[in-house]
Amino acid sequence: MQTKEIKAFGTQAVDKQLEQLTINRRTVRPHDVEIEILYCGICHSDLHSVRNEWGNTVYPVVPGHEIVGKIIRVGAHVTKFSIGDLAAVGCIADSCRCCDACGKGEEQLCENGWTCVTNSPDKISGGMTYGGFSENSVVDENYVLHVPEKLDLASAAPILCAGITVYSPLKRGNAGAGKRVGIIGIGGLGHMAIKIAKAMGATVAVFSTSAKKAEDAKRLGADEFILSDDETQIRGTSKLDMILDTVSGYHDVNRYLNLLKTDGGTLVIVGLPAEPLPVNAFNLVNGRKSFSGLIIGGIRETQEVLDFCAEHNIAPDIELINVADINVAFDRLQKGDVKYRFVVDMKSI
Ligand code: NAP
Ligand code: ZN
Ligand code: ZN
Repeated sequence: MQTKEIKAFGTQAVDKQLEQLTINRRTVRPHDVEIEILYCGICHSDLHSVRNEWGNTVYPVVPGHEIVGKIIRVGAHVTKFSIGDLAAVGCIADSCRCCDACGKGEEQLCENGWTCVTNSPDKISGGMTYGGFSENSVVDENYVLHVPEKLDLASAAPILCAGITVYSPLKRGNAGAGKRVGIIGIGGLGHMAIKIAKAMGATVAVFSTSAKKAEDAKRLGADEFILSDDETQIRGTSKLDMILDTVSGYHDVNRYLNLLKTDGGTLVIVGLPAEPLPVNAFNLVNGRKSFSGLIIGGIRETQEVLDFCAEHNIAPDIELINVADINVAFDRLQKGDVKYRFVVDMKSI
């Protein structure tokens, strides 16, 4: 396997800051494209990962899975992209391509294990995959998305993870006119969920621990803001068809299960706190309610959400930073202090 050395930004150990690293990236094979990375979002999953909160991090780790850039090299058999095209990569860098899930375009459910763009065993180059905090990315063209021209490039980046992770359950849950949707947590995922659910036509109630986000919630499109620490406000909330839980830390899901409509009300968890969340069975059996979860979306659906955002003029609210500010950004993200997604200008590496 031919490789070349490139600059990246990552960390060598759980107790170390992120710093500039040199990594090896494979050179393009016949079906690969090479993308010069222009922008990369910072997802809370990157924070869980660099701090080994899920216990599966292999160091050195180069995070970043909300990648937007430009094609600078194409393999001999590439048909979907040309040099100079805008391109994006989300979480999925590869999958088996032969199981039922891959056949249905649901690569994130690949029965033989999909390859995440970061911190995942690299079945092609060996070792682990290195993510988007780097100069370039080399990916099979079938796992690369087209960026609609209407989208601003920097603010398109968070659509690749935050956007798809909330679009997929909202679409699956038929969020639309006449539906009441609850969203827990106003962070990267949560603020996109508000925008997308509103664009789908749903009525949106937002649950937040941060009173200071109330005004923003309305500006983002929410119909109701509920301070989640206030039991009276929680109890006063009208029943919801669906609740999307985007919270990154430990919290009590039972109080939200009680807000679901009888017979079919569903709480979909997409947040990934490191600790298990206890569920009281009575809260599900009484009223025949569901508690489910979901991971990102497939390549086809990721293209769909990019196109959906372009069509509905939806752009994530971002704070654009330079590579040198990544450590500060991670600390701020830990404190919930971001409006509402950091995006790194990768040209500053
Ligand atoms: P984020 O920007 O940090 O937002 C998380 C929000 O959750 C915070 O802004 C805060 O909102 C709320 N929150 C945090 N800790 C809390 C606690 N202990 N109790 C109650 N509320 C709390 O994170 P993100 O990037 O949106 O990611 C959210 C979660 O989704 C992470 O765990 C991430 O790993 C996971 N994720 C999963 C997938 C998937 O495919 N399933 C994809 C991407 C991300 P308020 O201030 O409004 O309360
Ligand atoms: Zn993510
Ligand atoms: Zn598969």
